[in-house]
Amino acid sequence: MKALVCVAPNEARIEERARPVAGQGEVLLRIRRVGVCGTDFHIFTGKQPFFTYPRLIGHELAGEVVEASVGSDLAIGQVVTVNPYIPCGTCVACRRQRPNCCARVSVLGVHADGGMAEYLAVPSSAIIPTPGLTVDQAAMVEFLAIGAHAVRRAAIAAGSRVLVTGAGPIGIACAMFARIAGAGSITLLDRSDARLAKAVQDFGFGSCVTAGPDATVKLAEISDGEMFDYVFDATGSAAAMNAGLANVAHAGTYILVGLCLDNLVFADPEFHKRETTLLASRNALHADFELVIDSIRNGTIPTDRMLTHRIDLADLATDMPSLLGQQEMIVKAIVTV
Ligand SMILES: [Zn+2]
Ligand SMILES: [Zn+2]
Repeated sequence: MKALVCVAPNEARIEERARPVAGQGEVLLRIRRVGVCGTDFHIFTGKQPFFTYPRLIGHELAGEVVEASVGSDLAIGQVVTVNPYIPCGTCVACRRQRPNCCARVSVLGVHADGGMAEYLAVPSSAIIPTPGLTVDQAAMVEFLAIGAHAVRRAAIAAGSRVLVTGAGPIGIACAMFARIAGAGSITLLDRSDARLAKAVQDFGFGSCVTAGPDATVKLAEISDGEMFDYVFDATGSAAAMNAGLANVAHAGTYILVGLCLDNLVFADPEFHKRETTLLASRNALHADFELVIDSIRNGTIPTDRMLTHRIDLADLATDMPSLLGQQEMIVKAIVTV
């Protein structure tokens, strides 16, 4: 079978690999669509820490069941997505039903081979059926689940003011699920006017602020001088993450969704006087995937407008640099396998 393999930084190629065989408790999938993610770009460019080459990438998966174990509820040909965060099942986080932050989590396409290939065998516990969704939609569930999980972590009170910093795919996902959770207002903050314009036009987020010297004044104006009850950071920029505390209202919550490799530094008086609740959000739970699937099925998530780029698996190795260059205008690029 054909598989896209990152062999070294800035070097990807299509390789011929043996078709995997489903082991005990595994399901064999014929992969149909794969979403391209920021993580894939980081792996491609060599910016992903704790990563070893070569690696078959791809973790935003939609496939059809080819082979399932005896007694499984899955039907042959059924469309499913995959929760790519494979937990150990025994660590302290797993024992607390928080497998998304398992101490020994193995992420398909990062720590283990992923699904930018014709076939993939995965543990049956990672399979999530997507009834009523197209294969394109099924491949978009995972990245949306990252936003759904961040919003679940925040436990947004109805009617509250929400700010999302970073209007890339994850930021848009956070904003959409904040809207679904009943936020009273949602404001987006980003450096890119093009991204903000798309957020307004395609996704109906009317309140947008361009990052820059006068952003704080504008954010204060929008929030009657009180700033925001919930601030989500989806930038992955240490500078933005440090600065974002200033946008949190007193008694507010700051949720870090994007991650960076630097230390975060807050002035304690600023942190303390707000009695800030500080949360990290990592990966997603099965329940988040289920919420995303329901929200797509009932039409709340405009997946057609999120799918901005389409590419064939055979072309991805050579087109990766050009995709990287267009990142600002990509919400989701989907690979056809
Ligand atoms: Zn991803
Ligand atoms: Zn674990």
